[in-house]
Amino acid sequence: MISYDFEYYLPSSIKEAVHLFEELNGKGKEPIYFSGGTEIITLGRLNTVKTGAVIDIKQIPECRIFDLQQEYLVTGAANTLTNIEEVNLFPLLSKTVSEIADRTARNKITAGGNICGQIFYREAVLPFLLTDSLMVIAGSKGIKTVSIKEVFNQRLLLERDELLVQVKTNQSYLNLPFASIKKRRQWNTGYPLITVAALKVNGLIRIAISGLTAYPFRSPQMEERLNERGPSLNQRIDQAVHELKVPPLDDSEGSFRYRMFVLKNTLHDVLSQLEGEEQNHG
Ligand SMILES: Cc1cc2nc3c(=O)[nH]c(=O)nc-3n(C[C@H](O)[C@H](O)[C@H](O)COP(=O)(O)OP(=O)(O)OC[C@H]3O[C@@H](n4cnc5c(N)ncnc54)[C@H](O)[C@@H]3O)c2cc1C
Repeated sequence: MISYDFEYYLPSSIKEAVHLFEELNGKGKEPIYFSGGTEIITLGRLNTVKTGAVIDIKQIPECRIFDLQQEYLVTGAANTLTNIEEVNLFPLLSKTVSEIADRTARNKITAGGNICGQIFYREAVLPFLLTDSLMVIAGSKGIKTVSIKEVFNQRLLLERDELLVQVKTNQSYLNLPFASIKKRRQWNTGYPLITVAALKVNGLIRIAISGLTAYPFRSPQMEERLNERGPSLNQRIDQAVHELKVPPLDDSEGSFRYRMFVLKNTLHDVLSQLEGEEQNHG
């Protein structure tokens, strides 16, 4: 049970949602946007999220879209992970989100909620980091479209009144060779010890990682090492992990040493998969 009362609003347009935010904020209600609600409810029960009003974005058409438009795949922020997986317009995204939580939770969890949430795994962002996607963001100053490289640094850098509306991914990335490997400490539905998502673009492998550190990231330096021609696979992996800017987590889920061991093994699996693909098709 949530121990406090809050108001619930269900706007049908972006304009209405942003206007509601300003109005409720002005009244001191400390509003928050609400998408799947799984995290708000979980953290609300623990009193670590407190609000006087939630603004549910699920009726906003732009937030519900999941379709190909001109040169982009447009992923509305309120799409559930189940819908993304079932419609399957972007196999790397489908595979990555299909490993998050269990089916019942995925029926509720949304792409936008996962990317904007406080719980730091945010695995749905990995395919968008790999494809330099564009983030469509609405706020009191209007709607802007910004590269993920500019607005995602550890987390999505939103102003308090801002709402993630959509993610736009260039269609040229959608069917490229990919790998997405999630290693958990136990069971088949837990949070990741490490998830590595990878995409091969013009013969070069891009990688993005969740679970290793306290935020998901993509590292051009690691990618450079992994793509070097000459050194053996194991040498490239050793050099790549030396490029880690932040040490891996060292907690009850996995020690520093164990995480490094799992990271190296996972990178080995990912590279073997994608470089094997090159031998098969190259
Ligand atoms: C059993 C279980 C297991 C899970 N396992 C994993 C896992 O392995 N890996 C993983 O990555 N995740 C996992 N998750 C999901 C994750 O931890 C979050 O709880 C979930 O992604 C939140 O999504 P939501 O749509 O329910 O967001 P909500 O609860 O609606 O919102 C979460 C936060 O984001 C904000 N927000 C939501 N949408 C927007 C938007 N469009 N613009 C701006 N702000 C917004 C809200 O204000 C809130 O602060 C799991 C969840 C459950 C329940």
